[in-house]
Amino acid sequence: MSISKEEIYALFRVHCSGCEGLCCKNSVFTLFNHELEGLKPDRALEFTEDGTKNIRRVKMGALCPFSRDKGCEIELGARPLDCLTYPIYPSIRYKESACLIDGMTVHRSCPSCESIAADAGLLRLLRSYWEEQLSLNGPEAVSEWFGQDEYWDSENVIRC
Ligand code: SF4
Ligand code: SF4
Repeated sequence: MSISKEEIYALFRVHCSGCEGLCCKNSVFTLFNHELEGLKPDRALEFTEDGTKNIRRVKMGALCPFSRDKGCEIELGARPLDCLTYPIYPSIRYKESACLIDGMTVHRSCPSCESIAADAGLLRLLRSYWEEQLSLNGPEAVSEWFGQDEYWDSENVIRC
């Protein structure tokens, strides 16, 4: 059964209501190439240099180029995985031609990381969503998506 993006979004709102959308500022977000093709952006995007065969990383600048007064201009159905899942990510083990989820993590860069890490329902839903995404994209693309970055160092995440 496919996970509803609306349901994920609704569960996040509880934690995000007091935040000015920090996750859409001063950072980068990662796109699988098929997500980028689906977006068909009508403006030039700036990418970091560590793109690969399967992924690109979009530089946000002070504010993401897709951010508008009423939020993200990308409709929920086309919203990139990184935007939908932040700050919840799986801890992944690569085994032969499969990716397995060992557990979930919440990134500490989100001001609501503690309350999100305590939300078992949201974590369960995101785990199911990630399971779908892992099988859709495959280990090579998933490994490129996560990259080798200190962003994932253990002091930067809460393990759940
Ligand atoms: S930074 Fe965290 S609390 Fe703020 S909008 Fe993003 S996910 Fe929500
Ligand atoms: S694409 Fe939308 S949700 Fe993602 S960082 Fe940009 S404004 Fe935020």
